[in-house]
Amino acid sequence: MADAPNPTRRRLLLYGLAGTSTAAAGIIGFERWRHRGIAVKGPDRAAFLSPTGIVTQRRRLGRTGLEVSVVGIGAGGLEGPGPIHRAVDKGINYIDTSACYGDGSSENIIGRAFKESADLRDKLVLATKWDAGARMPKERILGSLDESLKRLGTDHVDIMQIHNLGDHNPADNGFNRLDNPELYAAMDAAKAAGKVRFFGASGHTGNRTNILEHAIDKGVFDIILVKMNVLDNEGAHVPRLLQHAKEKDVGVVTMKSQPEGGWMPAGLESSKWNIYQANLRWCLSQDIACVVHSSIGTEEKAQDEAIGAVHDELTEIAPQERELLERYAMQLSPHYCRGCHDAPCVSACPEGIAVPKVLRAVMYDRHYEWPEHARKTYAELEEASQWSERCLTCARCDEACPHGVDASARVREARRNLV
Ligand code: SF4
Ligand code: SF4
Repeated sequence: MADAPNPTRRRLLLYGLAGTSTAAAGIIGFERWRHRGIAVKGPDRAAFLSPTGIVTQRRRLGRTGLEVSVVGIGAGGLEGPGPIHRAVDKGINYIDTSACYGDGSSENIIGRAFKESADLRDKLVLATKWDAGARMPKERILGSLDESLKRLGTDHVDIMQIHNLGDHNPADNGFNRLDNPELYAAMDAAKAAGKVRFFGASGHTGNRTNILEHAIDKGVFDIILVKMNVLDNEGAHVPRLLQHAKEKDVGVVTMKSQPEGGWMPAGLESSKWNIYQANLRWCLSQDIACVVHSSIGTEEKAQDEAIGAVHDELTEIAPQERELLERYAMQLSPHYCRGCHDAPCVSACPEGIAVPKVLRAVMYDRHYEWPEHARKTYAELEEASQWSERCLTCARCDEACPHGVDASARVREARRNLV
């Protein structure tokens, strides 16, 4: 019989901190990040910034051969072109946007930045996403590409990704979108026309490893963009996905590195790295090329902190950082809903409430301070899956959650605040 993991190892596995490599809504829309909770009291953060203030580390993005800065702009929250110019001046060369972010407004802002600076386009690896549904015809998919190119004001993108593959519902389970032959006809046509250099696939949901492995096995996606953070790693089998990508030489970019929006639990304020930095560093201690974050596209402070966090060669995080991350994970764990694929909270619910989706809406309200999007996310759920009178007295979802999330209280909170 195999030995049971020791308690420390078991705890690290639970929080996703074990096995660090030594290498190196529905469809989401305008995912805004307010960078809250990152302002840290304690030692002067500047002491840990890069001596040059420039990102010098580049990593190869799998078989694309592109050399990308280890941190990049997540363009979901862009408010203007200024931070793009500043980021590029500081050595950041990767930007990830989508036709879905702000109904194209993110792409429009990038297009404005390209107009303002003639050589900016050539300095950036530009990745966007099309929203290619399971039954969408080739013409419609290509039409979406042309609209993106028009907004961006460029004749090609470096990477076009299929957006947010996930187990959203039976008609859109990620696999059926990848099995649409029209998608591949559109990809061939786009490449032949010189409008796209490489293709990728992105995934956020609890089932993202299975879906993205399926994408990799199609053989035509050169990169994946995947949600990865310390609390939702081993449980979502992300290490297996990274290994699979490595074997196929598929480049990996990660997102959503900050669980619950990077909220800083009490008592950790004076650590060497703040939580935002520690989370970025943890991602980069794995076999990935780049981690994108939306604050890098909006805030000077976040840009500088990201640059400071990656000034050294990150092949393995130091024991003190692991300790910080472990303390952080232990405090944050009961607050963070992972959106588990086989959600025990849903299986336990006698009323068929879509608990993880309700909790996602609450997260937008609580931590992103984005009540309008929270209400929209909640309203998109069928009424019977939002709420039941039974939720007033029941706590079965709490008991079923292996992470100790107070799910029933949040279901009640959603009912109070989001209708
Ligand atoms: S409430 Fe718990 S069991 Fe349910 S999806 Fe969230 S983390 Fe998973
Ligand atoms: S509290 Fe509501 S959502 Fe949770 S298990 Fe009970 S009925 Fe379902």
